[in-house]
Amino acid sequence: MAQSILTINLQAIAENWRRLDRLSPPSVETGAVLKANSYGLGIGKVAPYLEKTGAKSFFVALAEEGKELRKHVSDKARIFVLSGYMKGDRSLIKKMNLIPVIVTPEQFLRFIKDLPKHKFGIQIDTGMNRLGMEPEHFLELREKIVSLKPELIMSHLGCADEEDQTMTRKQLQNFHDLTRGIKAPLSLSATGGMMLGKDYFFDLCRPGIGLFGGLPFMDGVPVLSLKIPVIQVQKVYKGEGVGYNRAWIAPRDTTLATVAAGYADGLIRGLSNNSLAYANNTPCPVVGRVSMDLVTVDVSGLQDVPEYLEFMGPIQGLDDLARQASTIGHEILTAIGQRYKKVYV
Ligand SMILES: *Cc1c(COP(=O)(O)O)cnc(C)c1O
Repeated sequence: MAQSILTINLQAIAENWRRLDRLSPPSVETGAVLKANSYGLGIGKVAPYLEKTGAKSFFVALAEEGKELRKHVSDKARIFVLSGYMKGDRSLIKKMNLIPVIVTPEQFLRFIKDLPKHKFGIQIDTGMNRLGMEPEHFLELREKIVSLKPELIMSHLGCADEEDQTMTRKQLQNFHDLTRGIKAPLSLSATGGMMLGKDYFFDLCRPGIGLFGGLPFMDGVPVLSLKIPVIQVQKVYKGEGVGYNRAWIAPRDTTLATVAAGYADGLIRGLSNNSLAYANNTPCPVVGRVSMDLVTVDVSGLQDVPEYLEFMGPIQGLDDLARQASTIGHEILTAIGQRYKKVYV
């Protein structure tokens, strides 16, 4: 079998949720952001487990994701849709009992006309300039919005994981200014903001990557292991090139293992010539380009080449892989393709 095995530890995800939840006092709700199929790990498995652990509010990016999520959680669970109220969303929002997090005056006006009694949230832009109602528009509509009792008024931090907190504090101040005197529940922080302490908790926190053991949550437990089968072992002589464009030239006679996953599976090309695979506890360098279905690994250091090489596990975690590829854990997770055999424990 050439299928790789991705083991997903649901108990570890639940433990991470509990650890994140304990960062804030009991009066602060801890939600769970499960957009993009629960960061690639399978919403059908992750969502019910988290609901059982205590999560009551979930966030997805699209109404269609909300529809899928609704199949896996109870009717009581709140499902917030971060893209708000897009044209064509009416029937899904209504039928699946989703809560659009409205981001523009246009969305707001269309929403109150279409679904006057339906629950909603508002996202305001406090400086990230990505998604959220511009402050001047929010202030114009503020009274009307508040009178309709939103489930949540939220914003999102753009620089929470940076050492320099200037921008983050500015966003915090803007959020306070815009929401002063409002009784509706407030939310500002994803995983990154939660690390900054009580000023950033408000009424509800929205961790995503932290649930899966990713930075900037330092006290998470690892969730994943990834084992990729070795298809072929061969000798490569000094001076020979390996893989596309001969991106690696053997500096000495080498034993090479070719394993059965590539960028189509989420081993992004940034890992080319720049990453490690583990044979039990022995690190073996990835050499040459990562191709669509295959990666080549220098296993010269091994006595015996095992059936599988481990790309994520106890020694090399999600963030190690992310660092090697000059990216973040979020991208490594959501790049995971359809071909791995996912084993849930
Ligand atoms: C993705 C997202 C989150 C979760 O972010 P993490 O960094 O994964 O914790 C929270 N809020 C919003 C608005 C998001 O888009």
